[in-house]
Amino acid sequence: MAKEELECSFCGRKKPETNLLIAGLDAHICDRCIEQAHGIVLEEAKQSGEGELSAELMLRKPKEIKSFLDEYIIGQEYTKRVMSVAVYNHYKRLLQPPSDDDIEIQKSNIIMVGQTGTGKTLMAKTIAKMLNVPLAIVDATVLTEAGYVGEDVESILTRLLQAADYNLEKAQRGIVFIDEIDKIARKSDNPSITRDVSGEGVQQALLKLLEGTVVNVPPKGGRKHPDQKFIEVNTEHILFIAGGAFDGIERVITKRLNMQAIGYSSIKAETVDNDNILQYIIPKDLKDFGLIPEIIGRLPVLTHMDPLDANTLRAILTEPKNAIIKQYKKLFAMDEVEFTITDGALDYIVEKAIEYKLGARGLRSLCEEILTEAMFNLPGSGETKLNVTKAYAEQRLSKSTLKKLKAVS
Ligand code: ADP
Repeated sequence: MAKEELECSFCGRKKPETNLLIAGLDAHICDRCIEQAHGIVLEEAKQSGEGELSAELMLRKPKEIKSFLDEYIIGQEYTKRVMSVAVYNHYKRLLQPPSDDDIEIQKSNIIMVGQTGTGKTLMAKTIAKMLNVPLAIVDATVLTEAGYVGEDVESILTRLLQAADYNLEKAQRGIVFIDEIDKIARKSDNPSITRDVSGEGVQQALLKLLEGTVVNVPPKGGRKHPDQKFIEVNTEHILFIAGGAFDGIERVITKRLNMQAIGYSSIKAETVDNDNILQYIIPKDLKDFGLIPEIIGRLPVLTHMDPLDANTLRAILTEPKNAIIKQYKKLFAMDEVEFTITDGALDYIVEKAIEYKLGARGLRSLCEEILTEAMFNLPGSGETKLNVTKAYAEQRLSKSTLKKLKAVS
């Protein structure tokens, strides 16, 4: 084809009418068409970006959410079901089209009560992973009322913005996990005598975030000062999940159950499962522990974590999608070492985790202690196999090592 005859295969403009004509295999495209196409691509991306969340969420029904959680979290059946429904409802609320009836679906913020190391953080992380939304994990113990030494509650939103790479839209649909919420409980049952700023004041400050409000957030965190620019964050669609061990709350629950046993109640004293008292928790117990009623009201979904028994710990070692043992297998495989571990060794690790009260977190430290030597020696040694037996594990875990682990846990 002669040069003058070249034309854009999309709009038909002749080469002289274009600024640029790019040649493909059998076709040409002009600069104008490229620009137009680029616009379409951007528009599409924007739309699918917005639609991403809705499509993703609407596809996952509570049962599917639970199946996802099952892949990563062992046991905790009750909490998984409760969470699946709460998360589903939360995002249904978020996606509801504006309607003219007066029915407003309220937020389903969640509070999880359970000993440390039972998977509360894991639960929040897994949900955020599934939804592909940003997650901020904050520790309630560092929060203080504005004006005191420590972090303002607004810092929670700074973290969420950071987790969302400062994409405000994304942050406003994200999840905040507030750990150790029990540590800001009022220390005394009688609010008129002890108004401790550290506890109740922070609870008050948290209230407005939980219910949904627009907050001026310093994007880089830190103290507010006059010349700093703020980002306005609306917390209306942010899902808050609070977690805490609430040490000693079992006593509150037991006391209440005993009172009920005297009166008329559906729970009979003899049927109470004393190994898992938390399962009977009701919002009133949180109030008796020292959370103010307004906070409890804004965390309407209350659930508990079951203590981890030997079977659960054993399963945690090998079953979840990124189970600890699977991770070690992968690490060794990178050095062309085939890593295997016997059932006896696994049982032994679980036994020690229980004996030294190391919980699920301790499983990892135990494995690390057992395997460090091999991870040091095997790479480059020409060895292609490592089989860890109970005897091997016993040999690597001396009493003093176990005591050291207990001390740090
Ligand atoms: P919590 O927030 O309740 O203190 P985490 O979620 O931080 O506990 O759990 C500590 C570690 O223990 C996690 O990294 C996780 O690997 C493991 N773990 C705890 N509970 C479970 C569980 N039910 N299923 C799988 N892993 C768990």
